[in-house]
Amino acid sequence: MAQIVISRFAPSPTGRLHLGHAFSALAAHDAARAAGGRFLLRIEDIDTTRSRPEHVAGIFDDLAWLGLTWDEPPLFQSQRMPLYGKALSDLKALGVLYPCFCTRAEIAAEVAASGFAPHGPDGPLYPGTCRALTPDDRAARLSRDAHSWRLDVDAALALTGPLVWHEGDRAIPADPRIHGDVVLARKDLGTSYHLSVTVDDAAQGITDVVRGVDLFDATHVHRLLQALLNLPTPLYHHHPLLTAPDGARLAKRHGAPSLASMRAEGVDPVTLVADLRARR
Ligand code: GLU
Repeated sequence: MAQIVISRFAPSPTGRLHLGHAFSALAAHDAARAAGGRFLLRIEDIDTTRSRPEHVAGIFDDLAWLGLTWDEPPLFQSQRMPLYGKALSDLKALGVLYPCFCTRAEIAAEVAASGFAPHGPDGPLYPGTCRALTPDDRAARLSRDAHSWRLDVDAALALTGPLVWHEGDRAIPADPRIHGDVVLARKDLGTSYHLSVTVDDAAQGITDVVRGVDLFDATHVHRLLQALLNLPTPLYHHHPLLTAPDGARLAKRHGAPSLASMRAEGVDPVTLVADLRARR
C-alpha cells in the first residue's frame, strides 16, 4: 500500500503573512488533500527575539480566512528545544561538529583579508578559522567563551558518501559544500533553522515538503542532516515564487500587502484562493 501523503506549512511568526505565504500554504495543503492525506501546521518560532505572539495569532486568522484547516494541533518549535539539543549531541558524538567562537565582525574581517573568498547562497563561506583550533585551545575556550556549533561538512560527507533527494521524479545530487561549514546551533539559540526543520519534518512524519524555491538550496544541508541523524528523506517540491505584476518577488520586506490588510479591505477570500490556485 502506498504511504499516506503528509505535508506541512511552516511559517515563522516574524511578520504578517502575505500573498506568497498564502500561495505556499495552499500548495502544501492541496498536495495533501488531493491525495487524501494530512496537512500539518508548524510554527517556526525558535528565534525568540524576532517571533511575536501577535504574528502567531495572525497566522491562525489568515489561514482560517483562506479556508485552510490542518489535522493536528500545531507544533511550536520553541517548545521542542530538548529534541534539537539531542540531535545536536548525536551529531557531536559523530565528530562532525566543532565549536566556533568567531563574531560576525571577525568573520567579515577574515573574509575581507583573504584575497579569494568563496561565496555560497547566503554570502561568503565561513573561512574555517575555528576548525583549525588545537584540541587544547578548543577545550579552554569552550568553558569560557560564547560559541556556536558548525557542521564540518567535509567530515560529514566522508561519513555519509554521496546523497540525493527526489524532486518529483528527478534525483537531485545533494551538494552541501555550497554552504561551507554552516552553523547548526546559534550562539544565542542553541539550534538553527536547518537543524530544527530537519528534526521536525521527521518527527511529524512529513512525506512531502512543499515550499518555495527560495529554500531549494537549504535542502542540500537538510539531506545531509537526515543521513547523519538516520532520518527519512521526504519528497521535495520547491514551487516557483509568486511574483508581483511587475515581476518583482513578493516579500514582506518589499512591502507586499499582508493578508490581514487584504482582509480589512474586503477582499473575497474565495476568489483570492481560486486566483492563487490558477497561478500554479
Ligand atoms: N520557516 C521557514 C520560513 O518561514 C520555512 C521553513 C520550510 O518550509 O522549510 O521561511
